Amino acid sequence: MSVIELSHRSKQFEEVILGAEALLKELMGIPDNYRVLFIGMGATGQFDMVPMNYIVDGKAGNYVVTGSFASKAYKEGAKVGEAHVAASTKDLNFARVANPDEIRMSDNPAYLHITSNNTIFGTQWKTYPETGDVPLIADMSSDILSKKIDVSKFALIYAGAQKNLGPAGAAVVIIRDDMIEKSNQNLPTMLKYDTYAKNNSLYNTPPSFVVYMIKLMLEWVKGQGGLAAIEKTNEEKAAIIYDAIDNSNGYYRGHAEKASRSLMNVTYRLPNEDLEKEFIAEAAKVGLAGLKGHREVGGIRASIYNAMPVDGCRKLAEFMKEFQKKNG
Ligand SMILES: *Cc1c(COP(=O)(O)O)cnc(C)c1O
Repeated sequence: MSVIELSHRSKQFEEVILGAEALLKELMGIPDNYRVLFIGMGATGQFDMVPMNYIVDGKAGNYVVTGSFASKAYKEGAKVGEAHVAASTKDLNFARVANPDEIRMSDNPAYLHITSNNTIFGTQWKTYPETGDVPLIADMSSDILSKKIDVSKFALIYAGAQKNLGPAGAAVVIIRDDMIEKSNQNLPTMLKYDTYAKNNSLYNTPPSFVVYMIKLMLEWVKGQGGLAAIEKTNEEKAAIIYDAIDNSNGYYRGHAEKASRSLMNVTYRLPNEDLEKEFIAEAAKVGLAGLKGHREVGGIRASIYNAMPVDGCRKLAEFMKEFQKKNG
């Protein structure tokens, strides 16, 4: 039988799901007082579960709004209860993340929520805010497993699987024991974190094929030399494209401020929209696909997740130079 036929209650599948948890813990250096949960509904489901579980007892969900997914998370928080924007870079069209001294939390904060990598705008936190006793929660959907991080700074980390972890269909939630205990007990069973923690994410049938694929992906990451090696490769990849932008005499203009540049999503503009259209069409002809920027930023977005090899980035940088020569 294959993994899609096996019962999720079988010993074999238990080995898969607990194996995936153990491998993620090993690779990310997750301390013993955390669990790794596999939950359906993607990262967007976590926009709801986080406030439902923790905006209780007159507390307020605090949000740093640094992009489109961060805004969505805040809006869901505000539907559930009291939500507060602790900082926002919307005025700058999200060209950077927030500076620590811009963050103003409300009275009685339930948590501070950040988006570690802003997928659409191409910005990334380089150092995370210090929140003291206030639980720091991060949506790491688009940069989990791309570099080493200190998990102990966070009370809860979540990520949709489909960018760096495996196929779509699950969110991975890394949650500290005290946050499991604090799960809101007035919620329906499937919305409480402790349901997943107490049952090894097997209270009902989990997205078993996705979990299996995540485990294979984690084995691949380990085979690459773990997160130190992956991080080095990702830095090399991003530098190739950012250098092409910086050495273009202003022909290509990066959207993100340099200090916030993402290693996963490189966003930039050309001198005008017609050239951008042509760039995307010409690039597709030589096998460089998926470069159209999100409509909120326009221009070009090169998403260079773990699965993108260094050569792909080199090929794009060379194409950028050629395109500028022909159309500059
Ligand atoms: C892609 C993405 C999401 C949405 O993930 P789904 O799994 O589709 O719900 C949320 N946050 C960030 C930062 C993302 O990049």
